[in-house]
Amino acid sequence: MKTSDYELMPDRIWSEFDGAPGGMSLASMCGELFSQQLFNWQEFAVAHMNMKGAWLREIISGQHTLLVQFNQGRTVSATAALDADTIRRRPCFLCEYHLPAAQKAVLYGQTFLILVNPYPIFSPHYTVVHINHEPQDIESNLDVLLALAHDLGPSFTVFYNGPRCGASAPDHHHFQVCPAGMIPVEKAWEERESEVPGADRDGVSFGVLRLPGRSALFVEGSVPETLEAFLKRLIGAMGEVMGSAEEPMLNLFCTKKEGRWRLLIFPRRKHRPDAYYREGAGSVLVTPGAVEMGGLLITIREDDFLKMTPALAEEIYREVSLSTEMIEEIVNKMKYL
Ligand SMILES: [Zn+2]
Repeated sequence: MKTSDYELMPDRIWSEFDGAPGGMSLASMCGELFSQQLFNWQEFAVAHMNMKGAWLREIISGQHTLLVQFNQGRTVSATAALDADTIRRRPCFLCEYHLPAAQKAVLYGQTFLILVNPYPIFSPHYTVVHINHEPQDIESNLDVLLALAHDLGPSFTVFYNGPRCGASAPDHHHFQVCPAGMIPVEKAWEERESEVPGADRDGVSFGVLRLPGRSALFVEGSVPETLEAFLKRLIGAMGEVMGSAEEPMLNLFCTKKEGRWRLLIFPRRKHRPDAYYREGAGSVLVTPGAVEMGGLLITIREDDFLKMTPALAEEIYREVSLSTEMIEEIVNKMKYL
């Protein structure tokens, strides 16, 4: 396994998870890291306290619930310039040598650092960062995604933002982790019905979850190798339908419950809605990533927090999501792949 290209800062590693039987669970190690950081890293403690006090409201859209959070701590991330030039010139905030000295990590499998997210949306909220500066890429990290969901257990959900639809560090591979049950769509996921007939192969089931303004593809399985192979085929099919030479735009959630991995994938056609670039009354500063697609809308201005309605949320979703017809096309392709 490839390890770091450089020496890690002394004392960076708070603990190390190697999956040895009888050792401490990854969830416990992350919990200890979180407590340590709250006590020993003042900026993080303040950011966490602010997030805990953030306004949250519920808006109901048909049978579905959306949540809106007013979180000014997310301003840098929500408004980050993501053009290739800016990305190339800025110091990468996920590279280990740019992390604050007070920031500690759980070393995961020799190639990833689990960190507390310094601008949290959840309590706790972790960022799982590749030890090297390598671009955001889901396909070559599917094994890590499945291992992480397994090692963290059912109390956590792992999520991923594609490099062109939500990742604020598209040039440095990372996943994020939140407590399970915090994303509104997880409830709809529990109640899903529409599995695609004939798409169940090698113990992998697959279907479409229809939500207000958007659709998600769900994939479930209990054997990591077959699941990984299926996901690779699915990403390939998405790329073909979406006409994308690079990774097709997607956001993804993954959790492991009762012996089965469950993934929810939101295919995307656009990063930010037009309203993001508008000026005046029509402006809405929302940058949809996995969290937003999952039904938790993060707003960084009080005005946006107050004016969000189910209709406005749906309009944003419809604009940034793949059309129903293209979702059907992906599903049809998967029947024959
Ligand atoms: Zn980096």
